[in-house]
Amino acid sequence: MSLVSIVIPLYNEEALVGPLLERLLEVEKNLDEHHFELVIVNDGSTDRTEEMLEQRLPSFSCWKLVSLARNFGLQPAYKAGLDQASGDAVVFMDGDLQDPPEVIPQMINEWKAGNSVVVACRTSRKERGVRRVCFDLYHKIFHRLTDGFVPENSGMFGLMDKVVADHVKELKEVNLFFPALRCWPGYSQSQVFYDRDARFAGETKQSFRRLLKYAWDGITSFSDKPLQIITLMGAGLSLFAFALGLLLALIRILQLLGLFSGLAVMGYTSIILAVLFMGGLQLMALGVIGNYISRLYQEVKHRPSYLIGELKQSGSREDD
Ligand code: UDP
Ligand code: MG
Repeated sequence: MSLVSIVIPLYNEEALVGPLLERLLEVEKNLDEHHFELVIVNDGSTDRTEEMLEQRLPSFSCWKLVSLARNFGLQPAYKAGLDQASGDAVVFMDGDLQDPPEVIPQMINEWKAGNSVVVACRTSRKERGVRRVCFDLYHKIFHRLTDGFVPENSGMFGLMDKVVADHVKELKEVNLFFPALRCWPGYSQSQVFYDRDARFAGETKQSFRRLLKYAWDGITSFSDKPLQIITLMGAGLSLFAFALGLLLALIRILQLLGLFSGLAVMGYTSIILAVLFMGGLQLMALGVIGNYISRLYQEVKHRPSYLIGELKQSGSREDD
């Protein structure tokens, strides 16, 4: 009988606690050889999420409720859960039922077949409009910039063997990006495919600004290609300027020899465009470099990525 830890972060999700735990109980019931250790991270909820969890978690035989001191954000919440997970395998799953718990048995099968990391990849997703276009574009860019390091269309949903989980726990970085961190140790990996559902209830907690930060964190944690791209852009522009200079010199010589009379005067428009273009490019390059420096700054300060306010678990006095 092996223990599978299911780590779920929740932030102001009172409408989700009931349906989420019911579906998880159903899934656990149908597993013969494994049972769950449910590790729920309450990421500083200000609604009744905590109270409802305390009422309903005792229907599981093994659970932990990690209440963070305040809202620390999705990745730190997962880290808090991972640090408390003691199972033979650890599953990461969002709590909004966009990741269906019914996929967990498939992941366990892949794990039992000898894969240390099982990544759940979406065959479809319900987001539409600008959000959807941005998600698709991001996945393409991330996949390319990180040399296909992480399976395309994957997110947090996935399983890690204890060995991989222990490696990931030991990583000291403050800027966390688990979809790539769990692939980083390089153990055997496989994928399961699923349709990503719409959010079961409530609103997304990830604002567009947070998602942009998350996307940029993902890229800069695992790639320094943006810095190489800046260098290449600089080299390309210098070459272009050199070629243009040669061309203009040639035209001038031909003019002096009386062979070429009609040179259009490159006036105000071209100069102002060139100045603005170069100015924009330089500021962008500075921004990218500045971003890497700010990440260095955060890593050097080395503040903990989360603080636990309270930890409750099955078998503790409150549960008796
Ligand atoms: N979440 C969290 N802390 C946060 C933001 C989100 O614990 O600061 C949880 C949230 O309750 C949910 C999961 O992370 O269970 C995924 O969040 P959400 O659905 O809002 O993100 P999206 O799917 O839109 O990226
Ligand atoms: Mg969601």
